Amino acid sequence: MIVVLKRGATADMIRKMVARVEDLGLKAHVIEGTERTVIAAVGEERDKREESLASCEEVEQVLPILAPYKIASKETKPEPTVVRVRDLTIGGGHIGMIAGPCAVESEAQILEAARAVKAAGAKGLRGGAFKPRTSPYAFQGLKEEGLKLLAAARDATGLAVVTEVMTPHLVELVAKYADVLQIGARNMQNYHLLQAVGEVRKPVLLKRGPSATIEEFLLAAEYILDQGNQEVILCERGVRTFESHTRFTLPLATVPYLHERTHLPVIVDPSHGTGIASLVPPMCAAAVAVGADGLIVEVHPDPKVALSDGKQSLTPDAFAETMAQCKRVADALGYTLS
Ligand code: PEP
Ligand code: MN
Repeated sequence: MIVVLKRGATADMIRKMVARVEDLGLKAHVIEGTERTVIAAVGEERDKREESLASCEEVEQVLPILAPYKIASKETKPEPTVVRVRDLTIGGGHIGMIAGPCAVESEAQILEAARAVKAAGAKGLRGGAFKPRTSPYAFQGLKEEGLKLLAAARDATGLAVVTEVMTPHLVELVAKYADVLQIGARNMQNYHLLQAVGEVRKPVLLKRGPSATIEEFLLAAEYILDQGNQEVILCERGVRTFESHTRFTLPLATVPYLHERTHLPVIVDPSHGTGIASLVPPMCAAAVAVGADGLIVEVHPDPKVALSDGKQSLTPDAFAETMAQCKRVADALGYTLS
């Protein structure tokens, strides 16, 4: 349930209400809104508890949260969550652009990619150091060496580093180097991993599982939020369907649909969503048009020789053109983009 505190509630009053909620055996998540503070009291809901909270003098009203996801729901927090890390801003009318290779392959490759995407105006650098590959014989990533190269690329460019973490025991290591922790599509329902990144105080980019419903997607985000990490970025990256002309099917209606239900920012990954480089620029523009809060795009200095996902990777020139086109769409709709 949502405990809406009276306007101007002091820190002391908030502490007192948190204790009250916890005494009832519920978990308290304090959400400071622009208008007033609310406490999401999460746990099994029973009428008596609601009554006992509603009678406190600090409380304006107590409302049930109808959605199965509680902290992620717009019922709990109507205003959009904006994630800011270094110069990258995602949400609240600002479209954050993240780009870079599928995988970190070498120092020269990641530096060249970082410089190119920065020159095109992006503020986030993507690049996998730990790669979830379908085949165990495919390139698995440079692991910690890759993380070090990403950190060096950040030092050289100032870009925020977005990179994937695949297992709970690697969260600490990846968080040492990354600005944003990416949870890959295959791990969307790895609940121990979600809880582990929920304990970190760094933003998490959560990709939708290729066969996950939106409710499952939001409940996965809830696992992270429930651990106290409020900075979750949702990413639509395409789902598996009967269709085979593209690698996945990229459902852009997800974006406005999610915006109706959650305050969390929603970004789109047209690279994995299509699997075909020529389709990426138009789908980037389309994602901006439907209100995406950001894009994550694969860009490789020389896609032909990429060790992974070369077919869906843009050249630096194609990315620069894509940025320019997305900016035009963003301008027309009153969003800012960088
Ligand atoms: C990636 O971003 O390179 C990746 C593996 O993406 P996904 O988890 O969406 O397949
Ligand atoms: Mn990839």
